[in-house]
Amino acid sequence: MHGGGRLSRTYDAVVVGSGINGLACAALLARAGRRVCVLERNDWFGGAIKTDEITEPGFKHDVFSAWHPLWVGGPAHAQLGGDLGRHGLEYVNTELPTATLYPDGESAFLLRSADENAAELDRHHPGDGDAWRALLDEFFPNADLAFGILGTELWSRHGAGLGLKAVRRLGRRGAAEFAGRLLVSARDWLETAFRSERAHGLFAPWVLHTGLGPDAAASGYIAQVIAVAVQEGGMPIPRGGGQKLADALVALIRENGGTCEADTHVEQVFSGGVRTAAGETIAADAVVCNVTPTQLYGALLEGYAEKASGFRYGRSEMQIHYALSEPPSWEGDERLAGTAIVHVTPGLDGVSRSVNEAERGLLPAEATVVVGQPLPMDESRAPEGKGILWIQLQELPWRIKGDAAGEIDVGSGEWTEALRERYADRIQARLARHIPNLEASILGRTALSPADLQAANVNLRHGDPYGGSLALDQNFLWRPLPSQPGHRTPLPGVWHIGASTHPGPGLGGASGALVAQQLLQPSLVSRARRLVSR
Ligand SMILES: Cc1cc2nc3c(=O)[nH]c(=O)nc-3n(C[C@H](O)[C@H](O)[C@H](O)COP(=O)(O)OP(=O)(O)OC[C@H]3O[C@@H](n4cnc5c(N)ncnc54)[C@H](O)[C@@H]3O)c2cc1C
Repeated sequence: MHGGGRLSRTYDAVVVGSGINGLACAALLARAGRRVCVLERNDWFGGAIKTDEITEPGFKHDVFSAWHPLWVGGPAHAQLGGDLGRHGLEYVNTELPTATLYPDGESAFLLRSADENAAELDRHHPGDGDAWRALLDEFFPNADLAFGILGTELWSRHGAGLGLKAVRRLGRRGAAEFAGRLLVSARDWLETAFRSERAHGLFAPWVLHTGLGPDAAASGYIAQVIAVAVQEGGMPIPRGGGQKLADALVALIRENGGTCEADTHVEQVFSGGVRTAAGETIAADAVVCNVTPTQLYGALLEGYAEKASGFRYGRSEMQIHYALSEPPSWEGDERLAGTAIVHVTPGLDGVSRSVNEAERGLLPAEATVVVGQPLPMDESRAPEGKGILWIQLQELPWRIKGDAAGEIDVGSGEWTEALRERYADRIQARLARHIPNLEASILGRTALSPADLQAANVNLRHGDPYGGSLALDQNFLWRPLPSQPGHRTPLPGVWHIGASTHPGPGLGGASGALVAQQLLQPSLVSRARRLVSR
């Protein structure tokens, strides 16, 4: 036994961190009869899932993540959904998942069926509807391959199996073409497929939700996967707030004999166990770390300080939460009032410009504003007749060199409270042009800068919501590290999960599910014993 301290307890698996991946992994293991223990340094379970009254009493805000299509469409929900329902998790959904609102007041919508979407795209440019149908015709026959990449342990026989399946179905040349198409940027896909800039602006902002920009390699593939997933699955959220998902997972783990402990920082991990900051050594056959590579290799494992030193974090982000005395009254298309996520942007070039400005260290002049509206789906989140807005800004630098609009003095370049509020004012003024009653109806506004996000959750390093840059060299086969892809670490029995690992960020819980699956596979020894005893 390594680690020192007093040895108190022994488990089959200790999970370090209660993000969605940690909780999903622990729940799957506990339900299969394994003795699990989740250790969380914060005073809540869920990591980037938290629902709290952070503006005014009675207004329940999803402080960080809010939208659950990845969870509902993911592997852990498929296995645990029924059990979680018994623990109070109920999903509500919408026919109006997303739209883009342009500066001239026109908007474009992504709806819930192929026919509706074809009609909506034709409204902006006749013929774009056919382009959408053509995309679906090409996408669906190989949807298992496209989604399979995001649900498979790529560095394993399952990953090799997925490649073989593609070759068997499409032939060698066809499989190579398919793989090549996965690398297209969103700009190249959109400008080739659709004539209308409204269509480009409808899809382009979605690549921000995976940490990419519209000119990045593979952003076209990601945009297509999201567009199809939103059409088919909508924009589900838990009634009562995202916290219901974390609470139900914790309840399920405990129901199956597992332990979940908050306020417990793990400071050392080794083969066979962990040591907490309070000096307790806990033994476990498997240790599953829901942390960033820089924490894992730079702090938790001894002797690997250099291994993740080249890992890069992505752009920073900021949240703004509003409690309103009445629902926002949008100018323009009346469907905007009921739409779950409205992107306010000039379009593809606007997103591209803001990403580029942020990557050059500037506050963008005309950021892509993600306006989330949970209330039309779930009225339990605010007192009757009131309003809530969830605003996300995904194009920000961590160290600020200047303001692309030349208006804000960025001082030392650090995220101070004053800078956060000035930038929030800029966003608010832009929104007020489209929502005339916004400023008069504000009861409370709480903004969280990149520095606030990092302080709230150690995994949100530099306020990057997505656990590290998803540039091609840090994605797919190369995530988290080209020298250590997949979910194993150099130490036997120590596993790595979370947004920093394949298949990346979001609430899918897939990395947790992939590791649970591997831990639940019968070992070679037990398989051999079974064969011998037959
Ligand atoms: C503001 C914001 C909005 C987002 N919106 C959405 C959305 O709407 N939909 C969506 O699908 N995705 C969204 N995302 C992305 C998604 O929320 C994250 O990718 C996902 O939740 C990350 O989960 P995770 O398993 O990596 O763990 P995390 O959520 O990062 O949690 C990790 C946990 O581990 C704990 N921990 C770390 N180190 C230790 C240690 N040494 N000891 C003990 N505990 C430790 C941390 O305290 C934390 O609680 C959003 C992210 C952010 C930040």
